Amino acid sequence: MRDSLSADKKKRYAELLKVLSSYSRQYYIFDDPQVSDAEYDSLYNELLEIEKEFPELKSEKSPSQKIGAQASKNFKKIRHSAPMLSLENAYNEEDIANFFDRTRKASGKQDIELVLEPKLDGLSASITYNNEALVCAATRGDGSVGEDVTQNIFTIQNIPRKISAFSGEVRGEVIMLKSDFQELNRLRGIAGEKLFANPRNAAAGSLRQLDSQITASRNLTFFAYSVLSNEINFSTQKEVLDFLRVNGFTVADKITICRNQSETFAFYKEIEKQRAELEYDIDGIVYKINDLALQRSLGSSTKFPRHSIAYKFPAEKAQTTVLNIITQVGRTGNITPVAELKPVTIGGVVVSRATLHNKDELEKRDIRIGDRVILQRAGDVIPQVLYPILQERPPSSAPFEFPTNCPCCGSDLIRGEDEAAVKCINMNCEAQVVERLIHFVSKHAFNIDGLGEQNIKFFYDEGIIKNPVDIFKIEEKNEKFRLEKIEGWGKQSVENLFKSINNSKIISLDKFIYSLGIPQVGRAVSKMTANFFRDYSNFIDCIRKKEGYKLCEINGIGRSIANDFDNFFANASNLKILEELGGDGNSNGIITITEVAAPEKNIFSGQSIVFTGVFKRFSRDEAKELVEKFGGRAASSVSPKTALVVAGENAGQKLDTARKLGIKIISEDEFLEISQFEIS
Ligand code: NAD
Repeated sequence: MRDSLSADKKKRYAELLKVLSSYSRQYYIFDDPQVSDAEYDSLYNELLEIEKEFPELKSEKSPSQKIGAQASKNFKKIRHSAPMLSLENAYNEEDIANFFDRTRKASGKQDIELVLEPKLDGLSASITYNNEALVCAATRGDGSVGEDVTQNIFTIQNIPRKISAFSGEVRGEVIMLKSDFQELNRLRGIAGEKLFANPRNAAAGSLRQLDSQITASRNLTFFAYSVLSNEINFSTQKEVLDFLRVNGFTVADKITICRNQSETFAFYKEIEKQRAELEYDIDGIVYKINDLALQRSLGSSTKFPRHSIAYKFPAEKAQTTVLNIITQVGRTGNITPVAELKPVTIGGVVVSRATLHNKDELEKRDIRIGDRVILQRAGDVIPQVLYPILQERPPSSAPFEFPTNCPCCGSDLIRGEDEAAVKCINMNCEAQVVERLIHFVSKHAFNIDGLGEQNIKFFYDEGIIKNPVDIFKIEEKNEKFRLEKIEGWGKQSVENLFKSINNSKIISLDKFIYSLGIPQVGRAVSKMTANFFRDYSNFIDCIRKKEGYKLCEINGIGRSIANDFDNFFANASNLKILEELGGDGNSNGIITITEVAAPEKNIFSGQSIVFTGVFKRFSRDEAKELVEKFGGRAASSVSPKTALVVAGENAGQKLDTARKLGIKIISEDEFLEISQFEIS
């Protein structure tokens, strides 16, 4: 019994690891969360439960073993003088009572004084001062190494540039005030830019910018809460906060000292009441032991200090009625169901629409038109519908029928094997056409100079370009249109544009495949596919015979990509565009697609290659096979003799060793490219 149970748990655990790591990447690296914090936390807590029950399953890749995410490679790195840790979470009074018990036991003291501070919802930063002057600043990163954001920190007005008679670090939270966040999103909305999901992500997205001018244009605020210095001997957290205030730092105003649990609960409830009115977002109260000597003696685990705990607020919830459910086509063809709601106020914001994510989620939650539902905001701008109140369901209601055709162009919708999203893949679909055209002319596709995003939008709005084929007809259409007469277009720029369109007419097969925007077919897959078919006539032959399954013969391509490939060309408009561009196998098209040169043999000849981390497109065995096919040897450990290290996700020790030894390191995609084409 336990065996089959643990098999289920094992499967669920692997699923949770996968989704949580994907959500964390979006959240920490791209500052673009895919789900609300409440939803993330509920999956995370499920994972913790499984780890508690089956400790043998615990993986070093688990988010329970990691802090945040590795610093992005776009930034210079700063190693922290002491780890920047996360905080343990408490969700109820019992968790706090346990924290008190643990602390009393570990310290042997009955009376524990605590400082309670609001848990600011931003991202932490560490600012270093040397001989009074601010010299550098870093994000938390993975807790040991952060991103160098010094120039960006200099743009935040409320951070003192000097602290008299001080060398050391000041740590705190960079946040965006609610009013600044609303204004930023208002302006982004007007400019047609993507809105930030919440003030936390706006703050992270603004601080983690490579161009400090952008950070300077966003209003960020720094709240300080800790000091690391060898020169000053603070004895309490209260003294630290006083020092920060005196030296010109902003410190949260809702801070108190408590001497017992009931005082802390009263403060927690009071702040929870005030939460919606505060000018910054908070998601709980941080409990910190006031006595710093006691703090030090308690130490920390790899992830949390033992002297503090964050008592989180419950997410903000409300009830309302679903007036309608509509489906929207996103710019990449994903179909999203959206609930239109009877307007309701949650946490001070009026909400009248909520995303229902995707078909599966909608069906799982069985949300119907006419249902009373529970909504949750959880600090996010886009609220989510949690569940319907079944007792109040109107007897006449029926499950929502998800469309099988695109609400915009009417094409059949498709769905990849491993994908949650249902998609419209019609290259002519109005809702996506501009985005597809931008992709078509982009650098790694047709690379047409002078035909950037702005101009694509312009030609589209003027009705000159409706699909990729039209791009090659602009010159002909211009006899009537007379582009050179339009403001901003001189004779020269028009000629240059025609020239670069004409030059782009000779294109390699891989770039051509990439330009089509087939789901899951990025640059690496396009190269592999082109290498497999070698020339356009084989490629079109396979499409006409609907033999996309043949792609599965390629190392790194599975059923799901092959299905997307077949489905894409099963769409009559897509096939027509393909044939007009490249030819239908019998007659030529309007462009020339060059053949793939014969692959280099023995590209890894005699070389020792090490694979480390997790790979998405191939198994270790497949990689080994490929290396051996090209004359190399796949080794299990890194040594000075190693020629190349291929690093996947979560690569650890071997990657560090390779860096130390100065061995060339490449990514999974780069490996696939090299192994198909050339020695780099
Ligand atoms: P955390 O942000 O919940 O807590 C630790 C942090 O609190 C510290 O690093 C510090 O920056 C901050 N903090 C704020 N006020 C403080 C104060 N007064 N004193 C000390 N520290 C203070 O923990 P975490 O590990 O950074 O992230 C986990 C959180 O991130 C979870 O709540 C989770 O919901 C969220 N998350 C969400 C997604 C998503 O997709 N929505 C993905 C990953 C993580």
